Amino acid sequence: MKQNNTGINTICTHVGELKDNEYKGAVSPLYMSTSYAFEDVDIKRYPRYFNTPNQKALSKKIAALEHAEDAMIFGSGMAAVSTALLAFLKAGDHVVLQNMLYGGTQNLVTKQFENFGISYSFTEGLKPSDFEAKIKENTKVIYIETPSNPLLTITDLAAVANIAKKHNLVSMIDNTFASPVNQNPIDFGIDVVIHSATKYMGGHSDICAGAVASSKVNMERIFQLAINLGGSLSDYTVWLLERSIKTMGIRVKCQNENAMRLAEYLEENVNIKQVNYPGLASHPEHALAKSQMHGFGGMLSFELKESIDATEFRKALKLIKSSMSLAGVESTVLSPTQTSHALLSEEDRFKQGIADGLIRFSIGIEEPEDLIADIDQALEQVKAKQPALNSQ
Ligand code: PLP
Repeated sequence: MKQNNTGINTICTHVGELKDNEYKGAVSPLYMSTSYAFEDVDIKRYPRYFNTPNQKALSKKIAALEHAEDAMIFGSGMAAVSTALLAFLKAGDHVVLQNMLYGGTQNLVTKQFENFGISYSFTEGLKPSDFEAKIKENTKVIYIETPSNPLLTITDLAAVANIAKKHNLVSMIDNTFASPVNQNPIDFGIDVVIHSATKYMGGHSDICAGAVASSKVNMERIFQLAINLGGSLSDYTVWLLERSIKTMGIRVKCQNENAMRLAEYLEENVNIKQVNYPGLASHPEHALAKSQMHGFGGMLSFELKESIDATEFRKALKLIKSSMSLAGVESTVLSPTQTSHALLSEEDRFKQGIADGLIRFSIGIEEPEDLIADIDQALEQVKAKQPALNSQ
């Protein structure tokens, strides 16, 4: 639970900052040392022990952001995901995972877990009963992602946390899409919160990092595996990430507002078949999203009408870049069928509702009217190339 009433922007700016006692500089000093004294010291410091001054300071900020007792920073989101999962799973154990997951996590589970003797089940749907239905005697972990990629489905945090407690399981969430600004799963009883800090925490598409936040007891268990797997982040990047997080609150709040404006515009647009955004009243889990999120986030997806070619549309955009990854200050789009979900069979994509015309949209901090103008001109360009569409 949140420890005090400190507001999000104050946490982002100040919690965990290192004092420059010698020169009284305004920002945290950067300690690049990989070698620290071992005699007459409180702890033995080493970057791969995740305990250098900058690592400890940023961990404190991330723990405060997620209302957790403790946190750790990793070299990538996948280092955070894999270390957290493997810390609670051993040969003979089973894990229940949500069916809509980041492709990299799905790949880790389906390609590697068998080698470790760990079995897994993906849920059929996202209702609490879908999770409960997959629990076995040897299940140890439930793993979710909400909002999900790319359809922005919403999973009930409190319901999943309660199921986990009832069956004595560890509940984990990938909270990347929401960011700690919009969602704090620990407040709903989820045990372990994971982030690809490459996304909203970094926010400028120039840092690759990950984070895990949980109770002290859980973090100690994760730490004991992490020092052996070695997925730590360089102190220089830790320092850059601390600087980036200072503006995360204002960036994400602006992205929330822009995404809402764009979602409303797209929903009204005759060239768009479907808009997936939890902030829209038309979203099937809008009420649930409202009850567990502080803001609806900067990610949405939309499906173009069949008559409009998705690749042509993306190429016609001038301001909005076609680009992998997400959550930067600049707006980007991608086609899941060509990127994140390219490895799925056509049948599986169809089952999940991922159509060729689906565009995943990461909304930045530009003026929303400029983004709308860019989409308008791109749609006009594509339609002009296809005269038959002009009558629409
Ligand atoms: N989780 C989500 C939701 C992601 O979108 C990503 C990357 O795109 C990851 C985890 C993995 O993070 P990273 O690329 O930093 O390893």
